[in-house]
Order: sequence, then C-alpha cells, then structure tokens
Amino acid sequence: MLINIECPACQQDTIKIEPHMLAQGASFSCPTCLVKISVAQSSKNDIVKGVEAYDAYKNRLAELQEQGNAPELM
Ligand SMILES: [Zn+2]
Repeated sequence: MLINIECPACQQDTIKIEPHMLAQGASFSCPTCLVKISVAQSSKNDIVKGVEAYDAYKNRLAELQEQGNAPELM
C-alpha cells in the first residue's frame, strides 16, 4: 500500500510513502528536491496507531463488501 503525499518542502512533487514501513522507521525521499521524510521517534506511536486504525477500517470494508447488497453497519 503506497500513499502519495505532496512534498512539504518543494510542493512540486509527491512522495510515495508506505505507512507500515514509515511506522517501522523507514524514510522516503522526494524525487525532485530529495528531502527525506521519516517519523520522529516521539511520533512513532501515533503513526503505529494510525496505521492500525487504517488496517481495521480496511478489514471492516472487506467485511461489508462480502455482505454484498445488504451490509449491516454496527
Ligand atoms: Zn520535494
């Protein structure tokens, strides 16, 4: 799963990040200005929580899709 975010440094390009790898401390760079994006140690827990929440939504969506035309929202 790759997410494109606008480069916060040059705003001329997008940086492709993989949230799970980001949460594990990987860094991603802008192809235009080469700035590197990574997560500060102090923010790592927030990112991990966000990634987990995203995965939970994704699983929930898959469940709803399996229920077809009669989804039951909780
Ligand atoms: Zn850039």
